[in-house]
Amino acid sequence: MFAHLRRMLQSQIMTCQEPEPGPEPDVGHSVRPGALYVVATPIGHRGDLSPHACAVLGAVDRIAAEDTRTTGALLSHFGLRTPLVALHDHNEDRIAADLVRALQAGASLALVADAGTPLISDPGFALVRAARAGNVPVYAVPGPCAAIAALSISGIPTDTFVFAGFLPPRQAARRARLGEYLREPRTVVLYESSHRIGETLQDVVDVLGPQRQICLAREISKRFEESTTAAAGEVLAWHRAEPNRSRGEFVVVLAGAPPQDDSGEGERVLRLLLAELPASGAARLAAAITGAPRKALYAAAVRLADAHRQIGENEPPPE
Ligand code: SAM
Repeated sequence: MFAHLRRMLQSQIMTCQEPEPGPEPDVGHSVRPGALYVVATPIGHRGDLSPHACAVLGAVDRIAAEDTRTTGALLSHFGLRTPLVALHDHNEDRIAADLVRALQAGASLALVADAGTPLISDPGFALVRAARAGNVPVYAVPGPCAAIAALSISGIPTDTFVFAGFLPPRQAARRARLGEYLREPRTVVLYESSHRIGETLQDVVDVLGPQRQICLAREISKRFEESTTAAAGEVLAWHRAEPNRSRGEFVVVLAGAPPQDDSGEGERVLRLLLAELPASGAARLAAAITGAPRKALYAAAVRLADAHRQIGENEPPPE
């Protein structure tokens, strides 16, 4: 049984090694009829196309691709000749229904982007949504994604993060969007192009401050890959220090805002409310107003009330 599995795996891995000249290889992989496969492709190094992805791309009836020339070059690199159909931002809504009808009639289809995982700042959402609405099974063939790759090397917390895609191209809108992350406690992952990376880094410094920790990763898995994690002001200087650092593709990872200390504001409001209300009511209202934790405010209210009572006992009665 293990020998059989090993043979099967080897035949799939063979498919995705550098192509040998000669006849089209046997993909050795079956896909389900009537299923849509969402297939991740390399963001740089072609060796990152997984054996599974390669086998699926070789076995489906058709591949819907963002740019048929880009995907055509990838397919021919691996000796695959699956027919392609263009699916991009401008025709997706129109052709999704046709593709779903073909799927419902039993054809298998793979969806790819130019690079990385489809639908992540790339086309495909209308097709996947239409497929699901039409009860077409949808399978993931996971793989490269620039956002996840950058996050994984950033040294910035990864336990909870927001993927924010591209910022708006106009500066005012871009700065306004960054302003939304001023108090965002989660890590934020952004995509940026070579045209705007300098302006965007400057905006990050101006809006979030030069001390905010960020990671700039460029050309991941490509020849000139490099990345740095430091305070935003230092990353901007690093970027400016070398003109070639404006070339290529970029991911910017922003560390979340440091936790706000609301305890001072919570206690200030609590003191005001304690003049009129019992400890539990004052703590509940102060928590609702300031966002400070109610339990901590209740403990403070009891402490303040006790101190107040003791002062009252020691003080001479008012005249
Ligand atoms: N779907 C893709 C993915 O899964 O990462 C992203 C597509 S989006 C149109 C292209 C953007 O992704 C680029 O502008 C850049 O911000 C980022 N990107 C793609 N490849 C990259 C790479 N090799 N290094 C750094 N960033 C990359």
